[in-house]
Amino acid sequence: MERAYYVTTPIYYISGNPHIGHAYTSIAADVLARTARANGPAFALTGTDEHGQKVANAATAAGMSPHAYVDSLVPRWHALLEKYDAQFDDFIRTTEPRHQTACVKVFEQLKASGDVYLGKYEGWYCTNDETFWLESKLIDGRCPNPECRRPVEWLSEDSWFFALSRYRDRLIAYFKANPKFLRPQSVYNEMMVTLEGGLDDLSISRTNFDWGIPLPGGGVMYVWFDALLNYITAIGWEHDTEQFKTLWPASVQLVGKEIARFHTLIWPAILWALGLPAPDAVFAHGWITLEGEKMSKSLGNVIDPFALADEYGADSVRYFLLREAPFGSDFSFSIEKLRMRHNSDLGNDLGNLLRRSLAMLDKYRSGLVPAASESRLGERFADLGASVRERVGNMQFREALDEIWNLITALNREIEEKKPWTLHKEGLDVKLDAVLYDLCEGLRWIAILLYPFIPSKANEIWRQLGLRDTPSIPWEEHLQWGGLAAQTQTNGGDALFPRIDPPVPA
Ligand SMILES: [Zn+2]
Repeated sequence: MERAYYVTTPIYYISGNPHIGHAYTSIAADVLARTARANGPAFALTGTDEHGQKVANAATAAGMSPHAYVDSLVPRWHALLEKYDAQFDDFIRTTEPRHQTACVKVFEQLKASGDVYLGKYEGWYCTNDETFWLESKLIDGRCPNPECRRPVEWLSEDSWFFALSRYRDRLIAYFKANPKFLRPQSVYNEMMVTLEGGLDDLSISRTNFDWGIPLPGGGVMYVWFDALLNYITAIGWEHDTEQFKTLWPASVQLVGKEIARFHTLIWPAILWALGLPAPDAVFAHGWITLEGEKMSKSLGNVIDPFALADEYGADSVRYFLLREAPFGSDFSFSIEKLRMRHNSDLGNDLGNLLRRSLAMLDKYRSGLVPAASESRLGERFADLGASVRERVGNMQFREALDEIWNLITALNREIEEKKPWTLHKEGLDVKLDAVLYDLCEGLRWIAILLYPFIPSKANEIWRQLGLRDTPSIPWEEHLQWGGLAAQTQTNGGDALFPRIDPPVPA
């Protein structure tokens, strides 16, 4: 079987609030998967991380059992994906039997190979972050996480350990041999520093609470160890080897930079211990800040992703998030910039192009697409599909959109320069047909190329062009200038991106 493009998001911590950062990662994964699907098989995975003491505590506070509590929270994660049109082939919950069974099997297998052994864990523990901290890292005796700073407690218990330290040299060699394994470069460099500083074995069991995957002989699995395994348990590591073989290793795993350490130091080591290859690539995207400040509940500057999509439209937000800043950098969010992108790029450049083109076709040719002829534009953009695909594959979403916009700009310029209304007045029908054809054909290309980014508006362009089904079709075959059939009956309609004006100050 052909290997599929396999992309993952981190599984989202169930008791957190879905915020714009979750939408950001999910949208990026969706764009990758939709682009890949247009060119071959693809599989996108997301899900929820449901274990740990923090969840157990929150359930108690809510007067619920942990199980009932997590069940009550899952729907809002599905709702977020639906709100942003992010399509996933699977959604794994770490409380599912398929995950738990496989995790225990991993544990047994690693115990047998000696990669997991029994030791004693003592150290400073932050319950909130479910992390042990070195004494040297504590700040005034408190948790060093700047978002947390809660008191830590001294924990001493028998614990199972994963022999992470024995994989350090292999990790260093792997990083050096695969400079694109972890991007962007800044995070790669940071992880190299960590590696050179040495790695401790990882405590992977807990006995001070029981909301986790029960381990044979007592205790539960450390929530991070269980969480990482989702990327293989979901695709059948233990129960569907056929599917597993077509999907693993993952093509790319998207993470926020704060969890790059787990995904690029611990995760490959676990995989190697299981005799599996590391993922092809891990990409750590930046944080979304609100006009420069990190968003957090305590600062009260959190953007509600549901309200945002309701107000501006999911496609406009999707476009904005991937166009405004390079994917690996921090993203400075601002409503003003979102509104500008919506009105200018989407409304003026794209929406007006569609409206004007179809209006002229309607007026001069009763809405019927003329026959194709030689086209300079067709020659100029012949490689556009291949280059957009390559950009997207490299997580250069902004650059991919820039390239698509070159075509949009060229089509708008075509209208300004060729002046179809003059051609019509002067009776230059052959020239007029050529311009009208290029406009419609260019719009067909744009719908195909923008479909991964703005799926519902791309569908609308497709519909107004009078085309059947959806623009989700193989690029190589369909991005051939001249593919739009003569005599296609278009139906120009409503504005694609109605203008949004800033609220009038009271
Ligand atoms: Zn903490």
